[in-house]
Amino acid sequence: MENQEQQRRRETHAPERNPNPCPLYRKCGGCQLQNMSYQRQLHWKQELVERLLGRFHRVNPIIGMEHPYHYRNKVQAAFALDRRKQIVSGVYQASTHRVVPVESCMIEDETADRIVGTIRKLMKDFKMEPYNEDTGRGLVRHVLVKRGFVSGQVMVVMVTVSPILPAKNNFVKALRKAHPEITTILQNVNNRATSMVLGESEKVLYGPGYIEESLCGCVFRISAKSFYQINPVQTEVLYNKAIELAGFTGKETVVDAYCGTGTIGLIAAKRGAGHVTGVELNQDAVRDAISNAKRNGIKNVYFYNADAGEFLSAMADEGETVDVVLMDPPRAGSDEQFLTSLAGLAPKKIVYISCNPETLQRDLQFLVRAGYHVQEIQPVDMFPHTNHVETVVLLSKGEIDSKKVRVEFSLEDMDMSGFQKGATYEQIKAYVLEHTGLKVSSLYISQIKRKCGLDVGQNYNLSKKEDAKVPQCPPEKEAAIMEALKHFQMI
Ligand code: SAH
Repeated sequence: MENQEQQRRRETHAPERNPNPCPLYRKCGGCQLQNMSYQRQLHWKQELVERLLGRFHRVNPIIGMEHPYHYRNKVQAAFALDRRKQIVSGVYQASTHRVVPVESCMIEDETADRIVGTIRKLMKDFKMEPYNEDTGRGLVRHVLVKRGFVSGQVMVVMVTVSPILPAKNNFVKALRKAHPEITTILQNVNNRATSMVLGESEKVLYGPGYIEESLCGCVFRISAKSFYQINPVQTEVLYNKAIELAGFTGKETVVDAYCGTGTIGLIAAKRGAGHVTGVELNQDAVRDAISNAKRNGIKNVYFYNADAGEFLSAMADEGETVDVVLMDPPRAGSDEQFLTSLAGLAPKKIVYISCNPETLQRDLQFLVRAGYHVQEIQPVDMFPHTNHVETVVLLSKGEIDSKKVRVEFSLEDMDMSGFQKGATYEQIKAYVLEHTGLKVSSLYISQIKRKCGLDVGQNYNLSKKEDAKVPQCPPEKEAAIMEALKHFQMI
């Protein structure tokens, strides 16, 4: 068998050019590397990651796709009339509002493309015109199709400028007849002058209004608006690698920062993490994460709606201990508050998943200065033919460094006024466990502290919000926590 070095050498000499480039390559602009052979693209991405991150550690060979086509599980089509007044659908030409007609795209799901083609024909039959932004005439702005590659479930969203969809029952019937694989159909109304595809209000026309999909042994609900990774095959590869790097033994307390709908955290909770706390800024995503936890019967996980930096800073102030931090920030990377608090919390391991090697380089530099060592760098090709590359990095630290960081960050850089008088959360947990045999979470302690008028980090205030899904401390545990607070003379 070919070893990794041989494979890389072969790839370096792979033919430069793609013999069958997409005819829309220039107009669409979505696949920046289309003119290169796939092997060459992988080589290009490998070199990029090595150039940016090579000084931290040797970079593993990038994991590419076996079949790097039709990998997108989500397709968004825009509609317009061409010069002959025929309905066309496709993508906007780069930085314009001109629709480039697309019959089939080499990276989009083929079923989704076929459905869009059928809708184009049905729009003619049902006299639904594409919406024209300049004249304000027409109805249909976009069609969004999402497909679960494993579950086979398909969602179609008709995005219209007004809530009226003529002959909607017959339209739904005709669409389902042509595509029995469709499991749900929605109408979303977007009447704003915006480049966002979806508007606020939506109506379910058929089915449950969402699809479900399996990933790494968990089932996730995907609604029209919720974020879900667009390449499910490589997401599985990426998450498996992240979990492997975290090396859970069943005891670890874990933070899943920038957790979105909770995918990585839930998979971690199922695959050996002791307890997972997910934090995410988008309230809808947190709601999805909570229902995903319930759907999968996963109990050792909590989700919080907060800024990840503020949340971590509150955890550091509260004296919480964390063994592993999984982080998957947006393209802009993390921020100083998050990284400073992370260094203060000093988890043994950090698994950083990044979709932008440039901001990853900046953040790794910070963490390395704070005493962390980069142990492994694994690029994964999540978006073949585009210039995007995903990277997962393992950082860890030894005991000596941990002390150094604690001094550097907790004494010099951290605001000491944030520290609480009285016992830390860990001391309260230990006391309750010893005296009652009950395990209590930081959330419950914070609820009871608040009840007693004691100050708590603001990120624990979630239960005050309308979202009533946050678990409430049961009376038995409340009494035990009160005892501990009395013992530590905090009340
Ligand atoms: N890990 C998830 C989502 C990653 S995308 C997944 O793979 O599905 C990055 C996420 O970070 C988005 O959901 C975004 O809403 C969230 N985010 C952005 N800024 C944030 C911040 N300051 N604090 C917490 N979450 C943030």
